[in-house]
Amino acid sequence: MSIIDKEHLRTNLDEVIWNIEQARITVSEHNIVKLVAVGKYTELENISTLYDLGQRAFGENQIQQLKERSTSLEALPLEWHMIGSLQKNKINNLIDLRPTLMHSLDSLALATELNKKLENKARKMNCLLQINAANEETKSGFSTDEALEMYQRIQESCPHIKLKGVMTIGAHSNDTKLIQKSFELTHSVYSKIKQEGTTYCSMGMSSDYELAIKCGSNLVRIGSTLFK
Ligand SMILES: *Cc1c(COP(=O)(O)O)cnc(C)c1O
Repeated sequence: MSIIDKEHLRTNLDEVIWNIEQARITVSEHNIVKLVAVGKYTELENISTLYDLGQRAFGENQIQQLKERSTSLEALPLEWHMIGSLQKNKINNLIDLRPTLMHSLDSLALATELNKKLENKARKMNCLLQINAANEETKSGFSTDEALEMYQRIQESCPHIKLKGVMTIGAHSNDTKLIQKSFELTHSVYSKIKQEGTTYCSMGMSSDYELAIKCGSNLVRIGSTLFK
């Protein structure tokens, strides 16, 4: 990790925004894609430089880092996204950080526990249901078969959780077809959710965000290629 020169970061950001734009218009001119910059591999300074360059939404995958960074930069009007697995003993910490969106609601047990703790604190949280579209053992999340039913169940039984859509991490593979399939399956779940306020289909990282957008993603989470 090192501090990156502002002009260098500007070039990286411009390139990512340009690529998003190219991919997005192949789908629809009306498809707006949100960029969440993932800071987990980089220094705090680079996050504030990216803010100077116009970026507002940032994501972290660990509560501790989310806490340190959002606290250090609390004077800036930033959005913070939680994108990593949440351990049950960290739920209260996350609630206190008031994230804009929590992408990684990956089990019914976590939803139940999160709802209970939100209720205790009289709070609500925007969340996405994490989908393990390629059924990988190394990943958490709901299978595409159960996702719709679970979405409905959480909606009905967890009133403090505001479900806003789905998130997936593309299949871990060199085979583009497999990655594409995991995005298509996730997008098909997303398009079947009939609910007002369902806003985000969060798919795509540095190595696969253009493909994800072509499969219907409207939120990409990008780290390494921004901070390279
Ligand atoms: C780290 C991470 C990203 C960003 O990954 P890059 O490949 O560096 O763009 C996106 N989503 C999640 C869930 C992550 O953990």
